[in-house]
Amino acid sequence: MKVIPRHVAILGATGSIGVSTLDVVLRHPERFRVHALSAHSRMDELAAQAAVSGAAVVVVPDAAAHARFRDAWTRVGQGAGPQVRVGADALAETAADPDCDTVMAAIVGAAGLPAALAAARAGKRVLLANKEALVAAGSLFMQAAADSGAELLPIDSEHNAIFQCLPAVGAQAARAPARGVRRLVLTASGGPFRTRALETLAEITPEQACAHPNWSMGRKISVDSATMLNKGLEVIEAHWLFAMPAERLSVLIHPQSVVHSMVEYDDGSVLAQLGQPDMRTPIAYGLGYPQRIDAGVGPLDLARIGRLDFEEPDLARFPCLGLAWDALRAGQAACIALNAANEVAVEAFLQERLRYTDIAAVIGDVLDAAQTGGGRLDVLADVLALDAHARALAAERLRMRARG
Ligand code: NAD
Ligand code: MG
Repeated sequence: MKVIPRHVAILGATGSIGVSTLDVVLRHPERFRVHALSAHSRMDELAAQAAVSGAAVVVVPDAAAHARFRDAWTRVGQGAGPQVRVGADALAETAADPDCDTVMAAIVGAAGLPAALAAARAGKRVLLANKEALVAAGSLFMQAAADSGAELLPIDSEHNAIFQCLPAVGAQAARAPARGVRRLVLTASGGPFRTRALETLAEITPEQACAHPNWSMGRKISVDSATMLNKGLEVIEAHWLFAMPAERLSVLIHPQSVVHSMVEYDDGSVLAQLGQPDMRTPIAYGLGYPQRIDAGVGPLDLARIGRLDFEEPDLARFPCLGLAWDALRAGQAACIALNAANEVAVEAFLQERLRYTDIAAVIGDVLDAAQTGGGRLDVLADVLALDAHARALAAERLRMRARG
């Protein structure tokens, strides 16, 4: 059977998810064409990706990056090269481009929200890795996907696992919890500090926090995994993706990262998706859906792994996870503040301006200080204003801590 190729845009192409996405795409030249690639930095790498994939368009942040891309292209490319588009508006326009039907949203942070939303509004197949977009603008994003008929395929491994274990209803935005489902169980590895002595947590360095035991990821999400704020963002993400109330979501520590998450049904059945900790599996699932395609991932050797362990998360060790549960229960404004404060705090930690244990303290302060009441937030400008306000509060807390 002849397949009609999908035309793919990869937003955040040079990141960990972007590189894995291109890896899967290039394994299937008959199925996928690369329409566009975007990156915020590392123009050499973007040029090399554009050269191997034959991308028609690249999107870069500013004129200086444009010049660096052109320079890099003379070394790695042939001919005139791709069309270069510049700036955040160009990113959102490219996500909605009629010349592409599939958008991988793999920018890190709330910075990826406008482009991910543009893809949802334009009715694309949206492969959603950028969880911060959903945390900040869940109602807006889900409504946009429902209105346009966009196919929403979760790429975060936990949500992809849950999607695979839920009753098959297609990739439409969920409006109510799936029938017969009692609870969703998100597994978490517990990160590199699951068993580290609590009194030594304040000394943790960025290098230690970024050395995840099972997954190789970008630096921001690696720190989030260490604090388990990542799991908190994922609980909020699951709330929106699967229309699940907070009390029917739970988190379970599973250090081996083999069971990627589970769905518990009313009859007591629990379905789980297992696999190697390699993001190319959920990426290939989203790209090929509903067909299964080769991801370049080898078989899971359970005999070699030998055992699977599970335990309850300890909120004293992982205060960020508790803060995320609080934010989910408080509402959307609190979730925006949680995410924005975390982005500012993690950046400061990575630049060695903030101690590891103060990440939770900054987020807690911002949640206390921000206006976090109110109902649904259905206007992008309102979401972005609350996000900017929470970032300013977080920056102020950082200055106070530097002085104090
Ligand atoms: P990364 O830091 O490796 O890559 C981020 C990409 O976004 C890069 O291409 C970068 O150039 C681009 N970018 C950064 N800031 C930008 C900005 N302001 N505007 C436009 N582009 C910008 O991150 P990653 O680990 O690939 O994660 C990407 C997203 O996927 C995150 O939301 C993360 O939570 C999610 N995710 C990642 C993994 C993983 O295994 N890495 C797993 C699940 C979910
Ligand atoms: Mg995940």
